[in-house]
Amino acid sequence: MNNTSDRPWYRRAYRWGQTNITEIDPSRYDSGLWREQWRRTRIHGVIVNAGGIVFYYPSNYPEVHRAEYLGERDLFGEIVDAAHEDGLVVLARMDSNRVHEPFFVEHPEWCSRDADGNPYRAGELYVTCVNSAYYTEFLPSVLREIAERYKPEGFTDNSYSGLNRNKICYCANCQKQFRDSSGHELPTRADWDSPVFKAWIRWNYDCRVRNWDINNAATRAAGGEHCHWVGMNSGDFVAQGVNFRDSKRIFERSEIVMADHQSRPMVPGFRQNGEAGKMMHGLLGWEKLIPESMAMYQHGHGQPVFRVASKPEPEVRLWAVEGFAGSIQPWWHHIGAFHEDRRQYRYAAPLLEWHEKNEDVLFDRTPVASIGVVWSQENTDFFGRDDAHVRVSLPFIGMTQALTRARFPYLPVHADQIAEYAERLTVLVLPNVGALSDAQCDAVRAFVADGGSIVASGEVGLYDEWGTRRADTPLADVIGVSPRGARHGAESFTVASFDSWHQHSYLRLTPEADAAQRHELLAGFDETDLLPFGGALHVVEPHVGTTVIATFVPPFPIYPPETSWMRIPRTNVPAIVARETEAGGRVVYLAADIDRTYARDNLPDHFR
Ligand SMILES: [Zn+2]
Repeated sequence: MNNTSDRPWYRRAYRWGQTNITEIDPSRYDSGLWREQWRRTRIHGVIVNAGGIVFYYPSNYPEVHRAEYLGERDLFGEIVDAAHEDGLVVLARMDSNRVHEPFFVEHPEWCSRDADGNPYRAGELYVTCVNSAYYTEFLPSVLREIAERYKPEGFTDNSYSGLNRNKICYCANCQKQFRDSSGHELPTRADWDSPVFKAWIRWNYDCRVRNWDINNAATRAAGGEHCHWVGMNSGDFVAQGVNFRDSKRIFERSEIVMADHQSRPMVPGFRQNGEAGKMMHGLLGWEKLIPESMAMYQHGHGQPVFRVASKPEPEVRLWAVEGFAGSIQPWWHHIGAFHEDRRQYRYAAPLLEWHEKNEDVLFDRTPVASIGVVWSQENTDFFGRDDAHVRVSLPFIGMTQALTRARFPYLPVHADQIAEYAERLTVLVLPNVGALSDAQCDAVRAFVADGGSIVASGEVGLYDEWGTRRADTPLADVIGVSPRGARHGAESFTVASFDSWHQHSYLRLTPEADAAQRHELLAGFDETDLLPFGGALHVVEPHVGTTVIATFVPPFPIYPPETSWMRIPRTNVPAIVARETEAGGRVVYLAADIDRTYARDNLPDHFR
C-alpha cells in the first residue's frame, strides 16, 4: 500500500499516530522527534490539534482561545505542512464541547443551562449547547476556515456530542426546539417511565445526527468531496448511549470510524476490543476502516490515569492485537509532545511493523461466523436505563465469553439487521434482550420458521422499543415459555460473603440420578445433579412440547456449617427450558441468568 494510490484517504490510511498537544507544547514541540516517530511507526495519517477549546493556529475569529504558549506561532500549520511533506494524511482535530470564560461572556446564548438558568461548567470552562448556533453556525465557519487555509484531508472532534444524558439543558434553544419537535416542555428530571423523558432521549440522538450532517456539509463544501468530518466514537455502546451517539445512524452514514476506545475494561478484558471491532464493522461495513486511538500512557477502566507515564508494554500490545483480530487499525496516542517517561515511544513501532507485514490478511475480511448475538442501542437505553451494565452488558458478555472459550466464532448482530444476516446464521443468541420492537420480534420469528435455532435468556421481548413492559413477550411461542411476572434472586451484584446467603442458590438437573435420560445439553455433568447458581431467575410457565432440563433450588445458609443444608431441595420452578421447532431448529431458554452470572463470577460450570 502506498499513499500515491488514487483511493480516498479513508480507504488507504491504515495506521495512524496522534501527539495530542497541550497548551504548553508550542514552546517545546520537537518536530524532528515526531517526524522520526512517524517514519519508524509506518503510519499513514496523523491527527493534529487545530481548534475548539484551544486554537493552535491564528484564527480570524478574535474571540476564540489561542493556546497560552502559542504566541505568534502557527503550530497547527507547521505540523500539517510537515505531515503533508512526509506524505501523510492529516485530520484536523477539534474539541467542540467547551469554551473559556471570555468567549462565554461574548456568547452566553451558546452555552448550556441548568433548570435555574445557570451555565453548566466543567472546571473553569463552560459547556456549549449542541442546539445553539455555536454548533450549527460558528463551528462550521471555523471548519471552513481550516479547510480552506490548511487543506487537511478531514476532521475529527474529540467531544462533539455535548452534555450527556445525565444533565438536561434548559437553554432557550433547547426549550424551543424540543417544544417544536415534540409538542412538550423539557422534562424536569430523568424518569424512564415518562413518555416526555423518552421523547427527549430520542430527540437528543436526532440533534447529534443533525450536527453530524451540518459539519460534513461544511467540510465537504470547503475541502472537497472526500473532506469528511468524522467526529470520534466509542467502541462501548453503553457509553455511546449515555452520550447520545446513535451508532447505527452515524456509522451507516460514515466512510470511516475514528474510534476513541483506548484501553481494556476489567470485564470482559482484552477480548472486548475484538468484539468492539466486530460490532462497529457490523454497522459500518467490513470493507471500511476503523482506526482506534490506543493509549501509550497509563489509561485503564477502573484504574488511575497518568497522562505522562507509560502504560506497561504488554497492556498496549494485547489491547492492540485484540483490536487487529476485530479488524481495527492501530493509532498510537500520546498526551503532550514532551515526555520524561520515554518508554512509551518504543511500544508502537514493532506492533505497527507487524501490522504492515500482515496487511494481506487484515483487510477486506468476510466474517465466517454462523452464530449471531443480538444487541441494540434502544435495548441498551430503554431496557438498560441507568443499569445497562447489569441488565444488558453482563448477559451479553457472559454469552460471548462462553462462545469465545468454547471456540465458536460469533458476530454481534444489531436487532434491526436480523433479517439481513439471517441467511449466513444458524443460531441467534438473545442475551436478556428485553426491548424489541414488533418488527424485530417478527424477524426472530421468521428466522426460526426458516429452521434457525435460538438461545435466549431473561426478559427477552418483554418490553417494546420504548422500554414499556408488555403483558407477554411476542416471542412466547418461539421460545416456548410465558412470563409469570415473578423473580427469584437479584440481578445486581453483592460481594460474596459467608454471612449473606441470599445468592447461595443452585440449579437441579433433571431427571436426577439418571444422566442417560437427560437432555444432551447437560452432557459432561453426569456425576452431579446440582450446579451452583447464585443469580436471578425469571419465573416462567413452559408451554406444551418443551422440556425443563433444570430447576431452581432456593438459597439456604452458608455459615455456620451446621446450618448449611437445603431447606427446599426441590421446586418445579424452571431454570432452563428446551424445545425443538417444526422447522428443525432448536430453542434453549435460560430463565436463570447464567449468562450474567458467568460474566460476573467466571464459574466454569456456567459456561458449559
Ligand atoms: Zn441547550
